[in-house]
Parts: sequence; C-alpha cells; structure tokens
Amino acid sequence: MPGPRCLVRGSMNVDEFFQGKRQALRKFKLKEIVRPGETISSENLVKRPGGKGANQAGALARAGAIVDLVGAVGHDAVWVRDQLRDTGISVENVSIVEENTGRALIQVNEAGENSIILYKGANYASIPPYEIHPDTTHAVFQNEIPLSSTIECLLRASSSHISTIFNPSPLPSVEELKTFPWKQLTWLIVNSGEALDLCKALSLEVAQDLDASTSAVNNAKPLLSALSSHMPTTNVVCTLGADGVLVQFVPEGDMSNSATPISFPAAKLHGTIRDTTGAGDCFTGYMVAGLMRLHGQNITDRDYDAVFKMAIQAAGMCVEKRGALASVPLLAEVEARLK
Ligand code: ADP
Repeated sequence: MPGPRCLVRGSMNVDEFFQGKRQALRKFKLKEIVRPGETISSENLVKRPGGKGANQAGALARAGAIVDLVGAVGHDAVWVRDQLRDTGISVENVSIVEENTGRALIQVNEAGENSIILYKGANYASIPPYEIHPDTTHAVFQNEIPLSSTIECLLRASSSHISTIFNPSPLPSVEELKTFPWKQLTWLIVNSGEALDLCKALSLEVAQDLDASTSAVNNAKPLLSALSSHMPTTNVVCTLGADGVLVQFVPEGDMSNSATPISFPAAKLHGTIRDTTGAGDCFTGYMVAGLMRLHGQNITDRDYDAVFKMAIQAAGMCVEKRGALASVPLLAEVEARLK
C-alpha cells in the first residue's frame, strides 16, 4: 500500500519581528507598539519562515511525516523555501512567482500584546498546475490563500480518496462558509472562537446551555453537535487552549444523533506558558501525522485516543517555548514526555 504522505496546500510568509533591547527578564520586547503619527526604534529584527501552511507542514515534518508543501514565494525570499526544505519538507511544488513573498510585520510589547500587518503577496498569486503525489493519503488546508485554490485542491484530493483536513483560519466569509463543500471534508479543526463564529455563519441552531457555571468544554459541546449535524460526514475537532480538545467523531452506522463529543484534557506543562503562538498549528501537524501512521489499518478508539494524546502533548510542549515553528517539539521528545 502506498503512502502515507501528506500534501499541504497553503501559505508561506516571512515573519519579521521588530524587537526592543535584550533585557534580563523582558527579552526582545518593544516597550510599546507604535501609535499613529509616532516613530519608534527597533533594536533587533528577526526574520523567520512563517505562515500557517509552512507552520503546519513544519509540524508534520517534525512529527515524522512525509510532507509536500504546495505554495509560492517571490524572488525576494527564496530562502523561505530553502529553510523549509532544510527542515525536511518537500518543496518541489513551491513556485517562485513575480509577486513579493507574503509577509507578517510583527510588534510585541512588554505587556505581551502584539500588532501584526499581514501582506498576502505571493500567497494569492496563481501557481502553475501541480501533480498530487500518487502516495498522498492526507491533505491539509488553512485559509491564508484564495479559498478557490483551497477548494480546487480539496476536491481533487477527495476524489482520489485522500483524507482532507481543513483548519479554516482566518475564518472565511459567511457566503464562502455557506457554499463550502463540507461533504468532501474528512476533518474540520477549529478553536472555540471559530466554532462559535462558524455556527453563526451557517445559521445553526445551538442548544442553549442552562448551566451558568458551565466549563469551556461544556460550552463547546453544543457547538460541536450543531456543526456535526450540519456536516454529518466530517469529524469535528475543537481546540480549547488550556482546556484541551473536544472531538465529535462521525457516528458509525445509524447512531447519527446519539454520539456525543469526546473530551481530552490539555497536557500538564513543565514550567510556565511562554508563548501560545503556533500551538494550534503544532496540534494540527501532530494530529494529522498520527492519523497518517494509522493509514490502512482498522482504527480502534484506543488508536484515536493515542493520536489525540500525542498531539495534545506536542501542543503543550509548544507553549512552553517561544516561537511558532521553532517551538514545535520533535517526535522523539514528545514520545519521551509520554513515557
Ligand atoms: P489556537 O492557537 O489555534 O487558537 P488553542 O489556543 O486552542 O489553538 O491551542 C491549541 C492546543 O494547544 C490546545 O488544544 C492545547 O492542547 C494546547 N494548549 C494551548 N494553550 C495551552 C495551555 N495554556 N496549556 C496547555 N496546553 C495548551
């Protein structure tokens, strides 16, 4: 049996961090974010590959998966493609286009607040036709490229019996969400805010929770049930930050209304939270790499349990470190923590 192999059709950026002086406790933060009419100095400028497509592809590679990234950079930052290749991602289908590379200008102040200017650039350029590798078993999508390009690839993948995974971040427009081909989607991954906004956009009736002291998990349950009834052939995963993850699996047989979401607690952290940036992308990469390892097998509840526990452990380790892709742990490190 061929594979498993994962395609990621998504965004690639240069992340540019404008930082202040290095101080003992307040490392590299700007004192304040620039205000209208103001000019401030940045003591330090760091450039790294970023974008949700690159970050999820990177997390997949760190989790041990074979991954093909399909996207585009401009001539101004071919190094982004090259650095991603050095992390183990196959970049044969990363095109170099006339537009400038997508870019995020990021300022973080001492209070930890940030401000970001995002330039779509090459991520919105049209790219030449590309082949989907014949061993591909999974395809992962986010929403930092034109939704039409995502849908085109998703439909192709689905018609080749490839499992499709969509993390609709940032959330598409109401019109786009209403017409999205949910039937062709195997897994949806959202955070709690996106789950709520998606329910509103799709005008779904969400059962009222009568318990005022309800937890984040209990708040999310009716949202997942509503989403799952709208897309009954899609497994719905909702990440809840420090409250872990809630999963509504596609019910088997004719139990369609009786299945309830399954809750997985967050990982116990070693030390304090340093930076939650990229935790969701780390979770997605590890979750999909785990599903890939089960490809072709008769998957049991225990198998799914192990996949989610590992992805949650990886995401927990990710928040213990600074950075997005840089803080994604390696598979061996996650396995060691789980022992
Ligand atoms: P996003 O960044 O996409 O909004 P979340 O904030 O839900 O995603 O985080 C994704 C996952 O990262 C969570 O489901 C959890 O497993 C892990 N995580 C995030 N914040 C924490 C935390 N404070 N403690 C432990 N795990 C966390």
